[in-house]
Parts: sequence; structure tokens; C-alpha cells
Amino acid sequence: MLTYRCQNFGGCDAAQSNARVHASAGTVPLCAGCGLPLAPDRTARTRRPGRPRPMVVVAAAAVALATVLGFWAVRSAFTPAVEYSLIGMWHAEGTSILGYQLPVGVSLRFTERSAHLVDTEIPVVDYARDGSRVRVMLQSGAHTQVSLTFVFEDTDVMYFDGPLGLKFRYRRVRVGAPS
Ligand SMILES: [Zn+2]
Repeated sequence: MLTYRCQNFGGCDAAQSNARVHASAGTVPLCAGCGLPLAPDRTARTRRPGRPRPMVVVAAAAVALATVLGFWAVRSAFTPAVEYSLIGMWHAEGTSILGYQLPVGVSLRFTERSAHLVDTEIPVVDYARDGSRVRVMLQSGAHTQVSLTFVFEDTDVMYFDGPLGLKFRYRRVRVGAPS
């Protein structure tokens, strides 16, 4: 479609009022006011439909990117901080002392009330969380308590940082997960 207008200024009301007529390209319409052929309107924006301009594409991409970043920011703001928990079954992935790798150690299991180490069940007095560190207080004797601190790398990987560079690394065992 093209836009036409009458150029018969002074002799035609349609020209005076800048009336525009839309017609398909190839046919020159006649003015309804004066009957003279209309001229293409060069002030009208003529562009091919279905072909967005580069600037329009860039602007749309910017809006889409801003929308995605906005949703991401909102989601991050409302995602609660990860709360690490020792509760569950842990399999020792590796043990190292002073940087030397030792054979894979024993597995661990924690419940709310006890820690299971090999065949020993030790009562848990308390769990204390501090960021990515979880300290478990164990009742090792009638009047003796020991605390062990585990450092979480993520919710399923943690390590026990012992003395002399002793390091036990554990991975959570997913109950029912295929192994
Ligand atoms: Zn006219």
C-alpha cells in the first residue's frame, strides 16, 4: 500500500486539508475532490511490512534481556539462603592427610539425635550452623563432649577439617537414588 495525496493546492479542498488516500502500488488513484491524479505522499512513512528495522530488533532484544535479568534478580532476592544440614547418610569420597591421599574412609550417618560412625552410635547434643559450617556436639562419654565441624562445599559435599591437615571429604548418599 502507498499513500497518496492531492497536489492541487488552491483548487481542491482535499489538497487544502492534506487528505490522504491509501492505494496499492501500481495504480494511481484520482482525487475524489477534483478528479486529478494523486501524487505519492513523500511525507508518509513507507516501509516494507514484515521487515523490522535493525533498531527495532536491538530494542526488542534489550527489553527481553532486561526482563530476564529482572526476573533473575527478583528470584534471587526471594530465594532463601541455603541451610546446610548434616542429617542423612554420607559416603567418604576421599581422605587426605597433609595433602597425601589415603584410602577411602568410612561413611557417616547423622540423625537428629545421633551420629553413626562405623558400628558406633554417638548421641548428638546439638547441631550449630554458621554459614557453610555445621558443628555437631557429640556426647562421647558420661561427662565428655566433643565437637566436630564440617565445612559444606554445597548441600551434598562437605569435608571434615581435622588436626594435622587431616581432611575427610564426604558426599551425601541419596536414599533411593540409583548408584
Ligand atoms: Zn484534489
